[in-house]
Amino acid sequence: MTESVTDPILVLVELSSDGTPASSTESLLATAAQVGSPVAVVLADGETAASAATEIARLGAGLVLVAPPDPTRLAVPAVDAVAAAIAAVQPEAVLVPNSVAGRDVAARLAARLRLAIAVDAVRVTRDDEGIVAHHSVYGGRYQVESAATAGALIVTMRQGTADARPVSRPLRSETLLVNASGRAAATVVETRAAAADRGRPELRSASVVVAGGRGVGSKDGFSLVERLADTVGAAVGASRAAVDAGYVSSEHQVGQTGVSVSPELYVAVGISGAVQHRAGMQTAKTVVAINSDPDAPIFGIADFGVVGDLFAVVPQLIGALERRVE
Ligand SMILES: Cc1cc2nc3c(=O)[nH]c(=O)nc-3n(C[C@H](O)[C@H](O)[C@H](O)COP(=O)(O)OP(=O)(O)OC[C@H]3O[C@@H](n4cnc5c(N)ncnc54)[C@H](O)[C@@H]3O)c2cc1C
Repeated sequence: MTESVTDPILVLVELSSDGTPASSTESLLATAAQVGSPVAVVLADGETAASAATEIARLGAGLVLVAPPDPTRLAVPAVDAVAAAIAAVQPEAVLVPNSVAGRDVAARLAARLRLAIAVDAVRVTRDDEGIVAHHSVYGGRYQVESAATAGALIVTMRQGTADARPVSRPLRSETLLVNASGRAAATVVETRAAAADRGRPELRSASVVVAGGRGVGSKDGFSLVERLADTVGAAVGASRAAVDAGYVSSEHQVGQTGVSVSPELYVAVGISGAVQHRAGMQTAKTVVAINSDPDAPIFGIADFGVVGDLFAVVPQLIGALERRVE
C-alpha cells in the first residue's frame, strides 16, 4: 500500500533503449520538486527496474512506483500504470515528457479519466488554487497560463526547460498494482534502433544546439554546421528550408512543424529567424546568430550576433574553439 505523500506530483519516467531513465527525467523531477513532492512512475521489471529506481531516486523522486512493462503494446500499458498511480497517490498534477510517446500517453489518460491536459508547458508554478502550467506560444511572443478547474492537471513538459538542479533522495520504491484495462492498443511487431546521429546528443534534450539554415547553400555547406556542433558536443538542428533543400534529414527540423528545443545555448547559422522557426527555439537560454544580413529577424532575439559570411565566420570559430581545448 502506498504511503501518503504530501503535495504529490506524479512524474512519468520514460526509459531509454538501454533501460536507463531518459534524459527528460532530471528536468521533470526538478520541475515537480518546485511545486510539490515528486513521485515517479516507471514501467520496468527485473534488474532494469532496480537500477532505474535507484537512478530515479538519485535524480530527486521521493517515491518510485514500479509498474509491469509490456513492450508488445503501445501507450496503453503506460496509461494503465499512470491511472493506477493517480488512484494510489492522488497527485495534484501529472508531468509527462512532451515526447511522441509522452504526448500519446497524456492524451489518452486525459480522455480516459476526464482530466484537463496542458500541452508543451515550459514551466509549472503553484497559486492559491493549485498547479498552473506556463506555455510559450506564437514563437515566444506570448506567455500563456493554463490550469484545471477540477482534478489533477496533466502536463506535457517541453524538455530542457527546468533551471533547477535535482536533489537526490534515499531510494523508496514500491511495486504498483496495475489492472490491465484491456483497451485496444497498437501491437509492436518489430523494434529497430534508428541510425545513431554519430553519438551526438538527442536534439530535444540537448543543452547545446547548433542549427543550420538555407544560408549554408548546400549539403556540403551544412557539414560546416555539423563540424561546429561536434566541436562543442552539440546536437544538430536545422530550419525547414534546410530540410526541404535536402541538406539534412527531417528529424533535425526545429520549429512549428519540427521539434521544440530549450537548450542553454542555440547557435543559428544562416537562419533568417522566421516566426515558424522561432516557435521551436525561442525559449533557448542564450541565442547566438551568424548571418550576413544585419536586418535578419533572428538578430531580434539573439543575445549575441555575428554579421558576416558564415563560410568565413564558422571555420574561424571552430579553429578558436579547438585551440581552447588543446
Ligand atoms: C505552416 C508552416 C510551418 C513551418 N514550419 C517551420 C518549422 O518548423 N521550422 C522552420 O525552420 N521553418 C518553418 N517554416 C518555414 C519558415 O517560414 C521559413 O521559410 C524557414 O524557417 C526559413 O528557413 P531559413 O531561415 O533557413 O531560410 P531563409 O529564410 O531563406 O534564410 C536564410 C538566411 O541565411 C542568410 N545567409 C545566406 N547566405 C549566408 C552566408 N553566406 N552567411 C551567413 N548568412 C547567410 C540569409 O541572410 C538569410 O537570413 C514553416 C512555414 C509554414 C508556412
